[in-house]
Amino acid sequence: MSSQGLLEPNHRILVIDDNTAIHDDLRKILLGEVKTAENLTDDEELLFGAQAAAVTQFEIDSAYQGQEGLAKLEESLAQARPYAMAFVDIRMPPGWDGVETISRLWKAYPALQVVVCTAYSDYSWNDIQRKLGLSDNMLILKKPFDNIEVIQLAHALTRKWLVSSQANARLEDLDLMVAQRTAELQAANQRIQKQFEEKAAAEVAFRTVFESSPIGITLQDASGRYVDVNHAMEEMLGLPKAGIVGRDPVQYGWIGADYSPIQEALVHGIDIDSRELTYWNPQRGKQTALLWARRVAIGGRDYSLCFILDITERKQMEEELVRARLGADAAAQAKSQFLANMSHEIRTPLNGILGLSCLLEEETIPDELRPMMALIRTSGEVLRRVLDDVLDFSKMDSGKLELIDEPFDLAETLRWSFQLFSDSAADKNLHCNLLLDSNLPARVSGDAVRLRQVASNLMSNAFKFTQRGMIQMEARLVEPAPLGGRHVIRVLVRDTGIGIPEDRMGRLFESFSQVDAATNRRYGGTGLGLAISRRLVEMMGGAIHVESRVGVGSTFEFTFTAGIAGESQPPAEPISIDVGDLRILVAEDNRINQLVTSRMLQKLGCHVDVADNGAAAVDAVRNQPYDIILMDLLMPEVDGFDAARSIRRMSQPAASTPILALTASVSDEVRSQCLEAGMNDVLSKPIELASLRLALNCWRRCEAPRTA
Ligand code: ADP
Repeated sequence: MSSQGLLEPNHRILVIDDNTAIHDDLRKILLGEVKTAENLTDDEELLFGAQAAAVTQFEIDSAYQGQEGLAKLEESLAQARPYAMAFVDIRMPPGWDGVETISRLWKAYPALQVVVCTAYSDYSWNDIQRKLGLSDNMLILKKPFDNIEVIQLAHALTRKWLVSSQANARLEDLDLMVAQRTAELQAANQRIQKQFEEKAAAEVAFRTVFESSPIGITLQDASGRYVDVNHAMEEMLGLPKAGIVGRDPVQYGWIGADYSPIQEALVHGIDIDSRELTYWNPQRGKQTALLWARRVAIGGRDYSLCFILDITERKQMEEELVRARLGADAAAQAKSQFLANMSHEIRTPLNGILGLSCLLEEETIPDELRPMMALIRTSGEVLRRVLDDVLDFSKMDSGKLELIDEPFDLAETLRWSFQLFSDSAADKNLHCNLLLDSNLPARVSGDAVRLRQVASNLMSNAFKFTQRGMIQMEARLVEPAPLGGRHVIRVLVRDTGIGIPEDRMGRLFESFSQVDAATNRRYGGTGLGLAISRRLVEMMGGAIHVESRVGVGSTFEFTFTAGIAGESQPPAEPISIDVGDLRILVAEDNRINQLVTSRMLQKLGCHVDVADNGAAAVDAVRNQPYDIILMDLLMPEVDGFDAARSIRRMSQPAASTPILALTASVSDEVRSQCLEAGMNDVLSKPIELASLRLALNCWRRCEAPRTA
């Protein structure tokens, strides 16, 4: 049944009475056949306060038994046109009486307004009430009817039906609203409950992360006091949370004063990233940490959220590393210094041995002493090679090994290295071959001295480890230099010597590596030659490797690159070897060197004066002119550098006297220091007669630099 239908006026009336005359009477009264309607309009207005319809059109249906009445009511309900009221007779034999009928009608439709029609002799009001219960939907109309009363009842009860239907509909609406609102409230409640549970779970998760973080986390208020700290922070400060929260770490001395500027930055809204700070732990003492900090707002207030990572161990390790590195640097420095000193200390007597034996060989000495003289000289030369290797290795170690780039005669350089050993190979009955490819460029640009060193080292080893058979050196051009590029040259040194076991070949080019101790004892050597060769070859843009079979022989092969050099200059005018008229000043503090150099110069026919130190040399130059000065560098009182500078500051012609440095340690650094001090050239100790002669000849005709 639509509630809309119930909210409209309903004037349908069912009359249930077994007496047809009653039906007729009621129709007459209610359908206007008795003219009383106009009078009732006023009454209706008076009763209900509403504008009554001009004439109410009642619809009246009739039923003559209770059962029939119920059927009509059910039918009207099915059509959604229920009766608003019913007039029900009390006595309706043979069927249900009025009370039974009413009780059935109300079961079907409780809103039905009922008028019980009864005579005085029928049920009393109490009887009816007892049977039907107390209801405000029922009135009693005593027979015989009063017309006005019938009309009033019809109007009043149809009106009451409308009002109570509207009230019921309103009540249902209210029930619906309440149900809806209740459902909404329940849903909202569930949502809140869920949110609450989620929040609680998030809080637990956050707490777990916060507490189990290995990094210290703190929350501080705007004044710097701790609001919360995690477990890692308790560990770091060595205090329980209760003793930390509410306190200012700087004030309590837990965190160093270096935290104050961090706090200051945070107050100004500047975030901090990995700032180092110190903090205090009661057991471990002063510690170091890195701090990250962010300003965060919680509940409308500003806080500092800090993450503190302990780096004490890392810091200590770093400091130890720095100390170790400083120690290592100092050790390396000491080693370099030691090597420089050792070089100087060994080279000076070596200079004596080689210089004097060289001088003696040129003297007339008994023939039986000559082999001994040669032995002294060879021993000196071996010693010098060892010394050179050790120094080269030290330079390699400290990254100071440098190559020069100058034009040189390639074939001549290789031939020199070959001949150094081939001349004495005849004594061992060794057959020696030198094969130089005709395509080899005549002149190239590079470091001839270092190339000679590598080739000589391989030849020296081949010669040392070969007792019979042959030694061969081959050189060929691998790639001719492309325009503006570099030549790639390959050199092979083959021998038929003792060979190298397979398992030793891998480490052959490592420093101090020798095949075995017995070989070392038998053949001598430092185990540095190949390591130095490999480094030099690599610096020259090449590589070195070996193929060998024990008892059959070895082939060492290396490649190197060399720059393109112009055509060789036409040979200069023959070098005059007449240096006899020169006046030479030798500034040297070492007695042996004084003797060797003076004797060599005298042998060349020069006039020699010796000065024991730099100051004496300056005095000597002031007193008389010299053609050339040979200047030792390390001398007591005034060293060679200062003496050279003083001489360059003198007046002419003394100021422009050529000064040649004589030193045991010819490094690029020393060479440039000498040139800076105003010297013209640097000669290496021990000096040989031929080199000395060449240098004198070269510089006797040259002008010295005018300024120091
Ligand atoms: P060393 O000064 O000891 O000769 P090297 O570095 O030049 O040092 O050589 C290292 C080792 O390699 C030698 O001691 C030797 O055992 C082995 N070796 C080098 N060249 C040859 C060769 N041609 N034949 C056999 N063994 C060689």
